[in-house]
Amino acid sequence: MSDIPTPRGTLAQDRPLSGLTWLRVGGPAEYFFQPADADDLVAFLRDLAPNMPVFPIGVGSNLIVRDGGVRGVVIRLGRGFNHIQIEGNTVTAGAAAMDAHVARRAAEAGVDLGFLRTIPGAIGGAVRMNAGCYGAYVADVFVSARAVTRQGALVHLTPEDLKFSYRQTDLPQGMVVIEATFEAPLGDPRVLADCMAAQIETRNASQPTKDRSAGSTFRNPVGFSSTGRADDSQDLKAWRVIEDAGLRGAVQGGAQMSLKHPNFLINTGAATAADLEGLGEYVRKKVFQNAGITLEWEIMRIGEPIPE
Ligand SMILES: Cc1cc2nc3c(=O)[nH]c(=O)nc-3n(C[C@H](O)[C@H](O)[C@H](O)COP(=O)(O)OP(=O)(O)OC[C@H]3O[C@@H](n4cnc5c(N)ncnc54)[C@H](O)[C@@H]3O)c2cc1C
Repeated sequence: MSDIPTPRGTLAQDRPLSGLTWLRVGGPAEYFFQPADADDLVAFLRDLAPNMPVFPIGVGSNLIVRDGGVRGVVIRLGRGFNHIQIEGNTVTAGAAAMDAHVARRAAEAGVDLGFLRTIPGAIGGAVRMNAGCYGAYVADVFVSARAVTRQGALVHLTPEDLKFSYRQTDLPQGMVVIEATFEAPLGDPRVLADCMAAQIETRNASQPTKDRSAGSTFRNPVGFSSTGRADDSQDLKAWRVIEDAGLRGAVQGGAQMSLKHPNFLINTGAATAADLEGLGEYVRKKVFQNAGITLEWEIMRIGEPIPE
C-alpha cells in the first residue's frame, strides 16, 4: 500500500463488500477505509493521490455492488461518527448513526423524526438520498451538515448546497458527510412512539422487510414523482407500472421482483449482482414496451461487472 496514506483508522486491501450491503452481493473494495475520526478522514483525503476514486458507503441499504468490486477507496464511517445530541427541537447526529436509532432517541426527547424510524440506513446515506417515507423527507427537517471534500477540506453544507430533490441531492462525488443537524416539530414522546410502532406495522404488512432487498428499486415515474417535499403528489407509483407489465414475481437467476411488493428487487439466496441488475434492466425494458415509461433506478449501482 505504498501509494496510499497511512491513517490512524483501519485500512484494508481487497476487502469483500458483499457482507456490508443489504443485498449481500458484490466484489471487493480495492481499498477499504474506516477513519478513526474526522481529523483522520481529513488527513487521509488530503494526502490521497487526486486521481484515486473515493466512494463513501453507509450500511449499504440502497446499493448494488457489482461482482467485480469497486476500484479506488471505499470509505465507511464507524464508531467515531455515531454520536447523537438533542437540544430543544434540534438533533445533531453523526453520519454513521442509524436512522432508526436517531428517530427513537429523538422521540424519547419529544422531537418528531419518526419518518426515519423505518428507513434501514444511516444518517450519511439519508442525507445523500434525501430519504423519506409517509410524506416526510430529510429535506423537510435538514438544517446543515458537516462534510469532508475529496481534497480533504472540512466544509459546512446548507440546504442550498445540497439542492434536495426526490431521492437525490447535489452532494459532490467523493464528498463524505460526517454529521447532520435537523430541526423537527416537538411532540409527546408516547404519541411519537405509538406513531412509529404503527409505521413499522404498515411497512411490514406491505413490503418484504425480512427479505434481502435495497428498498424501492425504481423512482416513481418522472412527471408523477415527488421532488422530496411533503406537499408534492406521487400519483403514479413504480410498483403499479411493474405490476401492469406482468412482472410481479419475475425471476432472473437468484434475483426476483418481490411477490409482496413488485418494486422491491430481492436476492432469494444465491443471486449475483449481475442477476439483480440484469433483472432490473429487463423490467425497465418491459415497462417501456408496455407503458412507454422509462423507469429510473433508485438503487445506486457501483463498481465493475465481471468481464464475460
Ligand atoms: C427494506 C428497505 C426499505 C427502505 N425504505 C426506504 C424508504 O422508505 N425511504 C427511503 O428514502 N429509502 C428507503 N430505503 C433505501 C435506503 O435505506 C435509503 O436510501 C438510505 O438512506 C440509504 O442509507 P445507507 O446508509 O444504507 O446508504 P448506502 O446504501 O450505503 O449508500 C447510498 C448512497 O448514499 C451515499 N452515502 C452513504 N453514506 C454517505 C456519507 N457518509 N457521505 C456521503 N455519501 C454517503 C453513498 O455514496 C450512496 O450514494 C429502504 C431500503 C430497504 C432495504
